[in-house]
Amino acid sequence: EDLLVCQDISKTYHDGENDTAVLSHVSFSVATGEHIAILGSSGSGKSTLLHIMGGLDTPSDGRVLFDGSPLDSLKPKALNQVRNQQMGFIYQFHHLLGEFSALENVAMPLLIGGSSHTNANAEAKKMLELVGLAHRLQHKPAALSGGERQRVAIARALVNQPKLVMADEPTGNLDHKTGLSVYALLKDISRTLNTTFIVVTHDRELANKMDRVLTLKDGHLQPLDKVAS
Ligand code: ADP
Ligand code: ADP
Repeated sequence: EDLLVCQDISKTYHDGENDTAVLSHVSFSVATGEHIAILGSSGSGKSTLLHIMGGLDTPSDGRVLFDGSPLDSLKPKALNQVRNQQMGFIYQFHHLLGEFSALENVAMPLLIGGSSHTNANAEAKKMLELVGLAHRLQHKPAALSGGERQRVAIARALVNQPKLVMADEPTGNLDHKTGLSVYALLKDISRTLNTTFIVVTHDRELANKMDRVLTLKDGHLQPLDKVAS
């Protein structure tokens, strides 16, 4: 069945006298457990679409169904709960908290969700082991390499075992080789946990590693034949 459905999404930014139409009648569905890429050049509206899917921004028209519920029908508190408990987000920059250790950064979403410290630390440790950082639990972000920081961000995004993880250029800040290994890890863990995974990227090589690729161009979304270039 479908975990996420975008129904006829349009988005126009109103900026003083200027209207910028970014998305135009975008419709697609993502099945539970599916890995999809949304591929588009810079400025094509990828982040806008991701923000709308994640309930961070609202469409000008159309709606998003998550697990059967329209996001626009949820009250702010319920929407926050869905975002915190059922969605995970990974960005180009890791947004880890510099004052806190890797373990504390990963435990944070669990503590926010009401877990005890003992349970949060145990789960965070397990997740950091899963991303290969058992030996870096007490390191703060500044003492980690770029790839390690992004692996902590992956552990943090997945520690709540969300149904959906959304990544926006997750390897854009890493060198090519590190980026590929971080991306492979993210995909493997999503498979292991049966997490639905949506990535937005301008990188065709990364996009082609997903089950399905949709391209965003001139505000329209279209399927891409993966072998074509
Ligand atoms: P991408 O992620 O593909 O680079 P974005 O979704 O960030 O694209 O942006 C798509 C377009 O929408 C760009 O032309 C951008 O300038 C415009 N845009 C994004 N956010 C705003 C905003 N808050 N107000 C006005 N225009 C915006
Ligand atoms: P990269 O070559 O990827 O940039 P670094 O040279 O930054 O990596 O780091 C190499 C290793 O040293 C990493 O595993 C990192 O965790 C560790 N490290 C870097 N800085 C510190 C520090 N201040 N304290 C402890 N470990 C550190």
